[in-house]
Amino acid sequence: MEDELHLLIYSKALYSTWLYYGPDRILFDAGEGASSILGNKTFAIRRIFLSHGHADHIAGLVGIVNIRNNAMGDTEKGLTIYYPKGNYLISEMISFLARTNRRLSYDLEWVPLEAGDRVELLSGQMPRYVEAFPTVHVHNEASLGYNVVEIRHRLKPGLAGLSEAEIAARARKEGREAVSEVYHQKLFSYGGDSVPIKPAYIAETEILCHDTTFLDEEDRKEYKHATLKEAIQTAREARVKKELICLHISSRYKAKIEEMEKASGNHEGLDFKVTLVPPGRIFAVE
Ligand SMILES: [Zn+2]
Ligand SMILES: [Zn+2]
Repeated sequence: MEDELHLLIYSKALYSTWLYYGPDRILFDAGEGASSILGNKTFAIRRIFLSHGHADHIAGLVGIVNIRNNAMGDTEKGLTIYYPKGNYLISEMISFLARTNRRLSYDLEWVPLEAGDRVELLSGQMPRYVEAFPTVHVHNEASLGYNVVEIRHRLKPGLAGLSEAEIAARARKEGREAVSEVYHQKLFSYGGDSVPIKPAYIAETEILCHDTTFLDEEDRKEYKHATLKEAIQTAREARVKKELICLHISSRYKAKIEEMEKASGNHEGLDFKVTLVPPGRIFAVE
């Protein structure tokens, strides 16, 4: 695994889902097998953000917490795990891990989050943060999605006709604020398990990871997960800029995905790419 790796994904509905986001060394969810597949990269994780408390999204924590204490690597590096406040399944996991790992060599911190909460990632020219947004999955079980957001500057609208020298002169005279404005660009959005995400929460994100448990609508019996059609519609309404990554696909569609991959022009007329993550396969995005 290269350091430039952008995303590493494993996602199979009911079994296990986790996604390693390379740029900020974040693990989104921690399904079973995460540490054995990530190997030494388990030590690279700085933060884990959990979307909800179902076993297929948190069972891998047992391995991750243990391996960072015991394997060859920086066993003193701290780990912070963020989770939806009030999720009772995650509370049970927290107390299980506390009871079974009494002597951790590193600081393990658990931070409950609510929709709208922000976690600072970097400070400097281009500060970034993770922002939690609400999702709808299972009644009475708290769940969240997360955006990775970068704070950027751009030329104020209306100044595009000026030359660089004119802009520089105005900035010297009136200050930087006179020529540039701040905007918040969502780089990446992860929704976990959910029915269609409200487009406003993920508006204009570059990459959207959306629940796509069902490729055929008639297979959905309960309203807890999304369909491919809904994921595409959500991405379209949110004006996703680059890519829709379809996660949590049921393994019943294995053959169908191969078929869809072969058929080109499947999603014509969209401004973004649609990627189906095949269930049960390790999936890397450079
Ligand atoms: Zn799930
Ligand atoms: Zn779930």
